[in-house]
Amino acid sequence: MNPVFANLPTTIFTVMSGLARDLGAINLGQGFPDDPGPEDVRRRAAEAVLDGDNQYPPMMGLPALREAIAAHYARHQDLSLDPHTEVMVTSGATEALAATLLSLIAPGDEVVLFAPLYDAYLPLVRQAGGVPRIVNLQPPHFRLEEEALAAVFCDRTKLVVLNNPLNPSATVFGRENLALLARFCTRHDVVAVCDEVWEHIVFDGVKHCPLMALPGMRDRTVKIGSAGKIFGLTGWKVGFVMAASPLLRAVAGAHQFLTFTTPPCLQTAVAYGLGKPDASFDDMRTRFARSRDRLSGGLAARGFTVLPSAGTYFLNVDIAPLGFDDDAAFCDTLVRRHGVAAIPVSAFYDADPVRHIVRLCFAKSDATLDAALDRLGDVA
Ligand code: PMP
Ligand code: GLN
Repeated sequence: MNPVFANLPTTIFTVMSGLARDLGAINLGQGFPDDPGPEDVRRRAAEAVLDGDNQYPPMMGLPALREAIAAHYARHQDLSLDPHTEVMVTSGATEALAATLLSLIAPGDEVVLFAPLYDAYLPLVRQAGGVPRIVNLQPPHFRLEEEALAAVFCDRTKLVVLNNPLNPSATVFGRENLALLARFCTRHDVVAVCDEVWEHIVFDGVKHCPLMALPGMRDRTVKIGSAGKIFGLTGWKVGFVMAASPLLRAVAGAHQFLTFTTPPCLQTAVAYGLGKPDASFDDMRTRFARSRDRLSGGLAARGFTVLPSAGTYFLNVDIAPLGFDDDAAFCDTLVRRHGVAAIPVSAFYDADPVRHIVRLCFAKSDATLDAALDRLGDVA
């Protein structure tokens, strides 16, 4: 058996969702909205299944979707992408990450990553033979710091993987902080993989800044997106990879033997959805911001210390002021005794984890958030 995968524990998302189901708890753990998602986008998928072509779509993705992706990022992020040579459709951002990391890392290459890190990154880097160099970002701000970058970037560094906005800390890296990373990438001739699946879910008037837009980064960034996140349809698993054509060709080489392609009905619906007016994306942000404030205000009123949430549909609480120093034990008690599932942020570390932060998903109805708050009333 392959030791990279054979000895991995079950992901924390599966464990917590399982416990929530078995115990009848309110699931604020694994990140997914509890509403059915935009009806017009779902209807488009249904029509495409019934009336459309359900045979293998092209390996790179339906031309209509690749054009819609290029147009979407031109409109929302001022990026200029050639839909024919710089855009590929994958089966979720997860497959995009797998194809990117497996194709761009050669054995022995050093790969810089930042913790807290999304759980898929490390196994994929290791499977490719990469040598991870992990920077633990420091709470509560989780900023990229010059000294920490200088300690890991070197001549052996080939790749850096950044998630912006950052799951689980709900941090949004702005242009100035990204410029620091861009300087290290250009100085050491490093390719950046930027997982931007949360790019549309940013709050308080902030505009997402794609790493690809920074000076020197256009042709050395692989940008990854996810329709599952953009439309709150997490089961759909339609992802995108955007990169200069030499990089994209390499990533496509891996994609053709991972999944080859992605269901055409979903691609058709995503192409339609990406073209929806700006107001629909603004509405989504407004709705999530309202839910964030409802949960955050309710938690604060019940004695919790809530950390800022600038993006994603997660917020974090600091359990240290409550006298707890073990987030995993805290979450276990929370789900078993109080009936609310949450995610311990220590699960997003390889070494020296932060153990006093717990993540909660607020992409839920007001009634669900209020019921969770009722159950959390006697914790703090
Ligand atoms: N990257 C990050 C940071 C995520 O949070 C997620 C899922 N929540 C993914 C990738 C996976 O996205 P997809 O479901 O499109 O595979
Ligand atoms: N990305 C989702 C989260 O952070 C979970 C995805 C999964 O279950 N693998 O909650």
